Amino acid sequence: MKKIIVIGGGASGLMAAGIAAERGLKVILIEKMNGVGKKLAITGKGRCNITNNCNLKQFIQEFGKNGRFLYQAFSRFFNKELIDFFEEKGLQTKVERGGRIFPVSDKAKDVVDLLKKWNIRNGVKIFYDAEVSEILTKESSISGIRFKDGQLLEADNIILSTGGSSYPGTGSTGDGFIMVRKLGHTINRIEPALVPFNCAGDTHLELQGLTLKNIRASIWFDGKKKFEEFGDLLFTHFGVSGPIILSLSRKINREDFSNHRIEISIDLKPALTEQTLDERLLRELNQHGKMKFKAILKFLLPRKMIPICIKNTKISSDKLCHQIDSSERKRMKNWLKDFRLNITGFRPMKEAIVTAGGVSLKEINPKTMESKKIKGLYIVGELLDLDANTGGFNLQAAFSTGWCAGKSV
Ligand SMILES: Cc1cc2nc3c(=O)[nH]c(=O)nc-3n(C[C@H](O)[C@H](O)[C@H](O)COP(=O)(O)OP(=O)(O)OC[C@H]3O[C@@H](n4cnc5c(N)ncnc54)[C@H](O)[C@@H]3O)c2cc1C
Repeated sequence: MKKIIVIGGGASGLMAAGIAAERGLKVILIEKMNGVGKKLAITGKGRCNITNNCNLKQFIQEFGKNGRFLYQAFSRFFNKELIDFFEEKGLQTKVERGGRIFPVSDKAKDVVDLLKKWNIRNGVKIFYDAEVSEILTKESSISGIRFKDGQLLEADNIILSTGGSSYPGTGSTGDGFIMVRKLGHTINRIEPALVPFNCAGDTHLELQGLTLKNIRASIWFDGKKKFEEFGDLLFTHFGVSGPIILSLSRKINREDFSNHRIEISIDLKPALTEQTLDERLLRELNQHGKMKFKAILKFLLPRKMIPICIKNTKISSDKLCHQIDSSERKRMKNWLKDFRLNITGFRPMKEAIVTAGGVSLKEINPKTMESKKIKGLYIVGELLDLDANTGGFNLQAAFSTGWCAGKSV
């Protein structure tokens, strides 16, 4: 009987191994950590955003220009099939904002446990604390693997599912890129994606821990607006994070930071036009004419932002509202619509949600995930040059590519 080795017990590897074993093949899953699915268990803030219920076209678009590669995999195993897969095995799912699918239990651990039990039930033999260092070939065909301690193991087929380079504490340390480069595969440049930004100065420190909900943030290069997102933003000890920052990070390259002065502009009142905001300010100032400026700010801003607003607008905090003149009101309006911070760079790769770049898709069969260079080698999951926005897209790609390889070995 054909012997299959799956290297890496994350989302894609667990799916690939379970499917191959379900077909009656002899499958060994090798995982370097002391348990499988360490990254999967922290996805979606511990709730696991399994997939998204948007249609195929939108789904593919989320991956940018490389998304086309996924047409064949998704036509075989897509979001509906994935949801059915989990529900048939007893994991109920629910839909949230933006079509995001989560387990009803809100526990990513339930997803990991289900996949692990399903693998064991199908006869997959799992080796823990076992690190693979090399894939062995004979005349451009798979022959086996070498472990870090030097031991060898023969195999007819290998499914490589070692993930990207982010969150290395979960086991994904980019080993697969090194292994396949050695076999002649092209690795397109690895970059952090879905990653927070470092900011200059100390404004973010004063705002640390504050989440701004439903704001609009735009990225500016050398004073010119480039990209824009609407949603939630979080201030941290290093700068800014949160869903819209992660999305914006996919649109910027590392070199942009050396070639441009990059700023983020936050529109704190995106639902109001400049004119309606001015009218609102006028109303507040008139209504509370005898109050101090700093006292009315609580009607307009989160508490932590009040000292920053006073500092940036240079309006005296003790000034009475009826004394505020039109130029000060204009400064206030401009600040509320365009609160700026300087961005100095990405946070490091280890803090990125996904790795952009990876194994060139030109070298992979999009139906089976088999390498076009090495017969019997299948490459799946985040190792491939595919990355999408948050929303369940990355896990679906890992599950679908793993499924295809499991069906094809
Ligand atoms: C904090 C966080 C939250 C996320 N949330 C979501 C979300 O909610 N929804 C979503 O769609 N995506 C999410 N993602 C992205 C998603 O987790 C990844 O895209 C997905 O896990 C990739 O699956 P994979 O199988 O390719 O790799 P991984 O899941 O990273 O698995 C790789 C496995 O290979 C093992 N391994 C590595 N090297 C070796 C070796 N040499 N020998 C043996 N084993 C090895 C690792 O230990 C690991 O278990 C999140 C990512 C992070 C970091």
